Amino acid sequence: MELHQLPVHILIDLIREGRTSPASVREYFARRIDQLNGDLNAFITVLDFARDDSGDGKPLAGVPVAVKDNISVAGVRLTCGSRMLENFEAVYDATAVARLKQAGAVIAGKTNLDEFAMGSSNEYSYFGAVKNPADPERVPGGSSGGSAAAVAAGMVPAALGSDTGGSVRQPASFCGIVGFKPSYGRISRWGLVAFASSLDQIGFLTRDVRDAALLYEITAGPDEHDATMIQSPPERVDFNMWNDRTPRVAVLSQSFSDSVAESIRDRIGEIASKLGAEKIEIPELEYAVPIYYIIAPAEASANLARYDGVRYGFRAEDVADAVDLYFRTRTQGFGPEVKRRIMIGTFVLSAGYQDEYFKRAQKGRRLLANKLGEVFERFDFVISPTTTTAAFRFGERTEDPISMYLSDYFTVIANLIGAPAISIPVHREGELPYGLQIMAAPRHDAELLSFAAAVEEKFV
Ligand code: GLN
Repeated sequence: MELHQLPVHILIDLIREGRTSPASVREYFARRIDQLNGDLNAFITVLDFARDDSGDGKPLAGVPVAVKDNISVAGVRLTCGSRMLENFEAVYDATAVARLKQAGAVIAGKTNLDEFAMGSSNEYSYFGAVKNPADPERVPGGSSGGSAAAVAAGMVPAALGSDTGGSVRQPASFCGIVGFKPSYGRISRWGLVAFASSLDQIGFLTRDVRDAALLYEITAGPDEHDATMIQSPPERVDFNMWNDRTPRVAVLSQSFSDSVAESIRDRIGEIASKLGAEKIEIPELEYAVPIYYIIAPAEASANLARYDGVRYGFRAEDVADAVDLYFRTRTQGFGPEVKRRIMIGTFVLSAGYQDEYFKRAQKGRRLLANKLGEVFERFDFVISPTTTTAAFRFGERTEDPISMYLSDYFTVIANLIGAPAISIPVHREGELPYGLQIMAAPRHDAELLSFAAAVEEKFV
């Protein structure tokens, strides 16, 4: 196998055994990015990392990691895929980035995304769409589409993404790699540009589950900069924990509904029966997407109020007065999807509508958490497809935002309840990629990773 087909844990074994060196691994991946990025558009900024030996001697020496361009890397442009931040430079490292650097990784560059991570196809990036390496006529998914494409194409062995409603797992599913979103509060949000703060979580796009666990163990754990973190230290992942225990697995009945592509339905059914999964009905899940698309825009409208052209970022010229400055800056600086979210968000929070929309959505969120809490008393894991279809073609869903939002049907649940969830590729030979999603109760990340590794061994 060639280096670009190998996961991080094998690369570091090869380096440790002296069969390759950190410098040759870095040079190899720098060349891959150079060859492939022109076509795929996965990176917004490529860093000159081939000769960066600052991590040599440490566990991840030689390993280039790509970072989604809504996560800060000190001294590097941080665009969020937006004209608003086209020329903004980050002034500090995100905690997750700092911990990766401490472990010896080098940052390969900043990956493309839907503007401010709002989208499911990468078509909403100011820097142009990313192509899916599995089929360049199709979207890579979003919003971490650049990270997913970069890993799937072997431009880097692993990447960071962010997942507010599925943005790590959905592109992982579309590109045929592993995508892991930890429990809310496990990875510090310090340095992650806020979209919807009660849902946002940094996650990992990798070639296999072991790499997801490796990056999780390096980056997870309390951080004084993020007050919403779980204060207990994360457990280590024991890959043998399910050897002598049979996990209780549930499969969501919605996995077999007509809106799921037939081949995906079949495949998930086959996996469910091999895992001895019990089919469960949670009719309330029909509300997950509507609840998400009230709460996420509401929080986004508040978080994005800071982009006013005054202190940093894009500033419109030739303005009459202060109000005109805000108006023109935001009109010219934001793209159509971000504007749609801000308008929905301010509407559902406005006097007179707050009770009808925002408060009801909050109650719905609580109801879903209670329902799933009951499920997790009886089951260790809940499985479903990650996505209802494989990757769609460019332009297929941009005209109809609701069809785009429904791409998130199975993924938003984990964000709404703060649970960890992982997507692992399970498509059959010759099919476009798609993933199996496995979700566990909040804080059960280690159990989830251990089980996912066992499932991966069986079905991938
Ligand atoms: N597709 C979802 C959205 O557009 C999720 C995005 C994300 O997880 N960042 O909001």
